[in-house]
Amino acid sequence: MSKLYKEEEMLWLSDIQHYCFCPRQWYLMTVEQIWEDNHLTIEGSLLHERVHQPEQSERRGNVVTLRSVPLASYKLGLCGFSDAIELHPSSADTGPAFVHPKYPGRWEAIPVEYKRGRPKRHNADKLQLCGQALCLEESYGINIPKGYIFYGETKRREEVPFSPELRAELIETAQKMHQAFESKTPIPAIHSSRCRSCSLLNQCIPKANLFGSASSYLEAHKLFML
Ligand code: SF4
Repeated sequence: MSKLYKEEEMLWLSDIQHYCFCPRQWYLMTVEQIWEDNHLTIEGSLLHERVHQPEQSERRGNVVTLRSVPLASYKLGLCGFSDAIELHPSSADTGPAFVHPKYPGRWEAIPVEYKRGRPKRHNADKLQLCGQALCLEESYGINIPKGYIFYGETKRREEVPFSPELRAELIETAQKMHQAFESKTPIPAIHSSRCRSCSLLNQCIPKANLFGSASSYLEAHKLFML
């Protein structure tokens, strides 16, 4: 992975979720700029609004929590914001460590992501979190072995080890997203059970998947996009 992306080529870390849920949903949102809220996206936005409060950091005992930290990886071509990064005192006296101007010392950085719902069978949440870790690793020259995802429904947080396999899957996913974004070739719909919970069901029209692009289907049928 030798290419370094420019700032104008960056894609959002949060879009990994959409791409993993359905590449076509991601394509419609990112390339065709179509967006429609449903109760799932609204609940998710409210949860993130609560996380992204004005206060940017706090210290409780030995743990510092940073919020809304901007993140970028020029190797992956991904950027975004962290929900939270916890800083724990580093156990090593030497070697790379996270440093912060407001909180002197050597720290281990642990990204924490907040999600509505419960742990899922697919890797989307883990890939997004891993993306945050790789951004931090690239920016600070550190190694981050794990992170946490807090799920609103279970009110528990799950530990996510950043294994070589998860890192490889993230790199491959980022490359596919960039290839699709650059080619601007519509990703065809594949009708499946996930369509029922998709906020773009009405815009995508998955049963018309031969058309690939929702806008071309609507144009062909003289329909209007509301
Ligand atoms: S309706 Fe189905 S195929 Fe279309 S974007 Fe949503 S999940 Fe993907």
